Amino acid sequence: MTERIYLSSQTLVADIEVIDCIPREDERYSIRLKSTIFHPQGGGQPSDIGWLNDVEVVHVSEENGEIIHLTTKPVPLGNVFARIDGDRRQLHSRLHSAGHLIGHVGELAMWRPIKAHHWPGESKVVFKPEAGAKNMSVEDIQISCEYYVMQDLSCNITLRDDGFREVSFGHFTPYPCGGTHVASLGQLKGINIQTVQIKKGNLTVYYDIA
Ligand SMILES: [Zn+2]
Repeated sequence: MTERIYLSSQTLVADIEVIDCIPREDERYSIRLKSTIFHPQGGGQPSDIGWLNDVEVVHVSEENGEIIHLTTKPVPLGNVFARIDGDRRQLHSRLHSAGHLIGHVGELAMWRPIKAHHWPGESKVVFKPEAGAKNMSVEDIQISCEYYVMQDLSCNITLRDDGFREVSFGHFTPYPCGGTHVASLGQLKGINIQTVQIKKGNLTVYYDIA
């Protein structure tokens, strides 16, 4: 199993060992690494992209517990220099962290987050009502989010003994999460709540970030 450096470290570069490199029918190469700084697609977040030496990593996925890095060219076995596309990582981390924040804001109004999708251009959080759920308008959510962004609450990550990880911002209740996050909510300036929809009793909040 690939060791997941990205769960405990935000590093964007590392010396990493290539275990195997297998050509595929689509002219991509399937690379397994001993340990990885690349966040695979999953948990509502797109994968990191980047480079192994000068070879592009175009997608990263999780298959049967292994992390598979797709590259455009073969990569030599042994040590390589891995680099993450930092701009893309930052955008994904901001969108994903904004999802956490919107989840917390919903919980304050007695809505429980049940699903989230943090892809650029299509980010949303879906909530189920708890007893006493209050109406939330676009403006209500926007103002609450801006308040916590201004407070710049910091991200706290706890790795549990069973391998799971919990992530919280400031005093809010932690969520189990394997995604990537901003160090503090101040980095979410430009968060923009777009629409709020109620369908079959569930509430969906659509958002983006400038
Ligand atoms: Zn998260």
